[in-house]
Amino acid sequence: MATTSERPDETADVIVVGSGAAALTAAYTAAAGGLRTVVLEKTDHVGGTSAYSGAAIWLPGNPALLRAGVADTVEQGLEYFSAVVGDRTPADLQKAYVSTGPELVEFLERDPSVAFTHQPFPDYYDAPGRIDGGRAIFPEPLSAVRLAGRRAVLRPPIGVDQYGVDQDRETLVGGQALVARLLLALDATGLAELRTGVRMRSAIVRDGRAAGVVAETGGKTFRLLAERGVVLAAGGYECDDTLRQRHHGLPGASWTSSAPDSNTGDALAAALEVGAAIDLMDEAWWCPATLFPNGHAAFTLGLRGGVLVNAAGERFANESLPYDRLGHAMHEGQATGITHVPAWLVFDDRFDNLPAVTQPVPDPDAFRRAGLWRSAATLPELAELIDVPVDALDKTIARFNGFATTGVDEDFQRGKDPFDRFFGTGEGPNPCLVPVERAPFHAVQIVLGDLGTKGGVRTDGDGRALDTAGDPIPGLFAVGNAAASVAGHVYPGPGTPLGSGMVFGYRAALRLLS
Ligand code: FAD
Repeated sequence: MATTSERPDETADVIVVGSGAAALTAAYTAAAGGLRTVVLEKTDHVGGTSAYSGAAIWLPGNPALLRAGVADTVEQGLEYFSAVVGDRTPADLQKAYVSTGPELVEFLERDPSVAFTHQPFPDYYDAPGRIDGGRAIFPEPLSAVRLAGRRAVLRPPIGVDQYGVDQDRETLVGGQALVARLLLALDATGLAELRTGVRMRSAIVRDGRAAGVVAETGGKTFRLLAERGVVLAAGGYECDDTLRQRHHGLPGASWTSSAPDSNTGDALAAALEVGAAIDLMDEAWWCPATLFPNGHAAFTLGLRGGVLVNAAGERFANESLPYDRLGHAMHEGQATGITHVPAWLVFDDRFDNLPAVTQPVPDPDAFRRAGLWRSAATLPELAELIDVPVDALDKTIARFNGFATTGVDEDFQRGKDPFDRFFGTGEGPNPCLVPVERAPFHAVQIVLGDLGTKGGVRTDGDGRALDTAGDPIPGLFAVGNAAASVAGHVYPGPGTPLGSGMVFGYRAALRLLS
């Protein structure tokens, strides 16, 4: 831990570590309220995983939802959220998240650079208070020209950044638009300074209070003091192989969708060093992920065909489940001793590419050359190619094709839930059950990916870091994936990571302003 016996290099009112959506919301709120705010980002790009995201933001009863004619209230949202999260996280934390959504959206939209709109995307669980069309809002697209000099620092979309694909970047959408809009709002306050290429190394504590950070840039360390406080918004630890092995029991820092140079658990280490309590370290925002020839694994959702089989050649879940639930099924499947990671998505030739949504879309030839996509004229031949028992695969497919005929998946109820049907495009009695019958047959390797980790610093409803006795550590805040998630072991609906990160970023800044 650093001490403050030497003269500090610089001072600000508030230091925000990281530059994703949680960080920028905190920084904007603090600066708009009159605090001199410094944002530190360790990479050369602003936006973190938030810039890669689809930018669904789950905030029940918010003004953008109501404008779109969605009948929703905070009470109904909280009924749903607490029903699915249960008592794994404190009720007051859950209430703080859900009840602050409307106020946050109203506050952000007061800035001329910020605008949201609703698009349907169902909640992920069948529970009281659910809304089938969901309660997600998205930032309005934005012309990249609006970013002017800031354009070069915006982290590129994931397809460009990790897979080198060519993509229109003149109109910013999704996470690109979210980060860009928050950045414009932040800049307009005139009170915030954004520094890229600066890595926070540790927190400075003075008289029991977080008073600044030790940071590093260009191989040199310096100290930055904060009059009011330090907000850790530096993401999780998904890019650190050691932490993943230790807490998740799986390899795969290269399977995360986060930028490889970004979230390596720095906030966690800094907070632990000053006595913070941590929680939910075995969790992540899981997802199936398609392994690409370059070693990255792309977030894969909306499986509209095929079946997912484990090393025993058997299905193990409803393939149309929301991605985090399917990811959990893969993770939990490992505990049976049968390999579920990787699994194989087996589909037939009616699909000319993977029957799922991925970013980017696979190039089948490149996948075949890398051994990640295998094709055969018959199912027994395919079983040999993917090393699963021939009889088992045959039986699995025959049984599934029977379900496709009747329209009822007797094993996993695929297609029963509105979420499943949101992506279903099949023509039979159940749009989610598409038979696997037209040769040649294909199999693509699917691993366990994530959209960030969920374990981190325990916090209260204002994002204040708690110590092991449950008391706030004065001046220290943790928000976004740097904090233990309010959602506990589940992913309630599209936009929970961003929605909760932004709410607690906002609430942390309000606390700093009070
Ligand atoms: P990040 O956005 O990851 O930002 C953390 C930043 O901190 C990074 O820029 C990192 O470089 C920086 N940093 C790390 N260490 C340091 C340090 N020591 N010093 C300074 N800076 C540091 N979630 C949703 O809610 N809705 C969606 O629609 C959605 N879609 C997704 C789609 C994709 C393809 C992916 C990959 C994720 C998606 N997610 C979505 C998940 C969501 O984007 C992340 O969980 C969320 O953005 C995490 O936000 P954050 O602010 O905590 O961290």
